[in-house]
Amino acid sequence: MKITIDERSGCCNGVRRAIEQAEKYLHNGERLYCLGAIVHNDVEISRLAAMGMKTVSVPEFATLRDSTVLIRAHGEPPATYRTAAANNLTLIDCTCPVVLKIQREISATYRELKSSSGQIVIFGKKGHAEVNGLVGQADGNAIVVEHISDVNELMDEGKIRRDLPIEVFSQTTMDSGEYGEICRALANECRSVSVHNTICSQVSSRHPNLEKFAAENDVVIFVSGKKSSNGRILFELCHDVNPLSYMVENPQEIEKEWFVGRKTVGICGATSTPRRQLEECARFISRSFITT
Ligand code: SF4
Repeated sequence: MKITIDERSGCCNGVRRAIEQAEKYLHNGERLYCLGAIVHNDVEISRLAAMGMKTVSVPEFATLRDSTVLIRAHGEPPATYRTAAANNLTLIDCTCPVVLKIQREISATYRELKSSSGQIVIFGKKGHAEVNGLVGQADGNAIVVEHISDVNELMDEGKIRRDLPIEVFSQTTMDSGEYGEICRALANECRSVSVHNTICSQVSSRHPNLEKFAAENDVVIFVSGKKSSNGRILFELCHDVNPLSYMVENPQEIEKEWFVGRKTVGICGATSTPRRQLEECARFISRSFITT
């Protein structure tokens, strides 16, 4: 059986940078706190925890004093920076430059919209750290749309006003097809709609490549944390093309029966899956299921 690792899989630049910054600091042997999970990938979190990184929740963060805290690639709302300044916290700010640019765009747009009472709509997952950071740029006054099916409901309830100017943004890892549908639905109904192209190209550019990769292999092993929204989207893409696609968090979840009668296996992953984890899965399959 031939095993191929997708050469374009591995962590995106934003996640890679945050992990590298954490590793660099931890090598000094000092305590490092991370506000929220550094990536939606429990294997990677455990590895960094073993090096001395402690993940803290928002309430725990508020109790810290005189400590060093890493801000992950998803970014944070302005309130986090105010808390850090008040509590003498040193921040290692790893907000991805792509996210930072969107935060600034939303903040500027929000200020401009005030005079016309316009609205900011964000396509994303409610409660997701990146979305919380984006909503915070508008002082909490943004409407989050999770699915195309929410749009009409929100308009009918008067939460999205058809008569006011609307500026639309997306969380960086959302599906570009559904974002297009949402923007069209709003444009068809509302007086003035302006769309910001904020889906990260490092995510969207993986789509056609992954579809091709999944179609080329008999079996696909997709390695990702189960809580990763980007992981779910990319896995579904593989599964639509190749129903013999399986999502695993670690090699121990891989089952022998998946390979019976198959000649090729492709290994790929989410933007939060380091290449190291793909290689571990490849070694595990080769060691456990390939007889010579
Ligand atoms: S997916 Fe894109 S925007 Fe999000 S952290 Fe990675 S590089 Fe940055």
